Amino acid sequence: MKKQYIIPIFVPHLGCPNDCTFCNQKKISGQLQPVTEDDVKDTIEYYLSNFKSNDMYKEVAFFGGSFTGIDVETQNKLLNVAYEYVKQNKIDGIRISTRPDYIDKPTLKRLKKYKVKTIELGVQSSNDYVLKKSRRGHTFEDVIRASKLIRRYRFKLGHQMMVGMQDSSSLDDLKTAKDLAKLKPKIVRIYPVLVIKDTELEKEMKAGRYEPLELHQAIERCKEITYFFNSKKINVIRIGLQTTDTICSPDKESSEVVAGPYHETFRQLVESAIYYDSIVEKIKNLNTNVKEVEISVNPRDVNNVIGYKRENIIKLKEMYDVDIKVTQSEKCPEHKMHIKVLKKFKDFKDDKEYIK
Ligand code: SF4
Repeated sequence: MKKQYIIPIFVPHLGCPNDCTFCNQKKISGQLQPVTEDDVKDTIEYYLSNFKSNDMYKEVAFFGGSFTGIDVETQNKLLNVAYEYVKQNKIDGIRISTRPDYIDKPTLKRLKKYKVKTIELGVQSSNDYVLKKSRRGHTFEDVIRASKLIRRYRFKLGHQMMVGMQDSSSLDDLKTAKDLAKLKPKIVRIYPVLVIKDTELEKEMKAGRYEPLELHQAIERCKEITYFFNSKKINVIRIGLQTTDTICSPDKESSEVVAGPYHETFRQLVESAIYYDSIVEKIKNLNTNVKEVEISVNPRDVNNVIGYKRENIIKLKEMYDVDIKVTQSEKCPEHKMHIKVLKKFKDFKDDKEYIK
């Protein structure tokens, strides 16, 4: 499968009638500018001239969460600009993200005309109580209906879910993942909840009615969910919000994040935790007292095996007294690893250096 290049275009839902407790778009909508056709053209041109390779799958992505909720004339104008590039074979596809209650047959027929290929739905939770608490304004039944319709019209279906919403337990979060898998999405995004300035959720937190997840809790929940989606062969294309000038560490002045499990390499933390569990399991299965092992992985996976600030290497030494040597091999497929025992505990005891 060809690697993908994404050309992201953020389309804010100005005048959004909804009132999700974790969102501040209503409060900041006066500061947001509507996206114009020229903006779309300029962005596409900029990305096309900066892509390093031409032999990649290139997709224009209208992000913002409610694309089919903005007025139809504006949608069509923006889509048309991207569609011109599709017709000239300069880009391969268009994707949009939207809410489940903004999907119906006429909308899907219209999107087909512009060769939209992928539709991502902001689901957040499959628990109606949690959805109501966060004032999403739709139910999980809407997600089921929209997902089935999207697949029936032969779009590629994507889901976005949140982890750590108000009153959502770890079991609720995992249940959301399981409920989504039944709807057969091809791709998912997992977003741990961050508390954003000037939101209802911030008020709830200050009133003691919402406690954001600690970083380690968010990693644990996202790890279980990622395991699950991997086991169902559903591609997890993002874990954690993209770092921007405003979505960044709460310590920074420009940050809109006031609390929650923010980390600039959140996905790496989750993937490293998955590798850690997998290494421990493999070592235990070796059925011998292991002292030093060599792990061969694809170069893309080296950082995840080692862990953020060498966390996995340090933990394996502290918990199991095992030294890890990581080597890179292009022959090793991504997300696979090969473990070789270099020294058993017995060899180590015979080592003169050790005896001295
Ligand atoms: S997250 Fe909710 S309130 Fe914010 S723009 Fe989307 S639908 Fe509107």
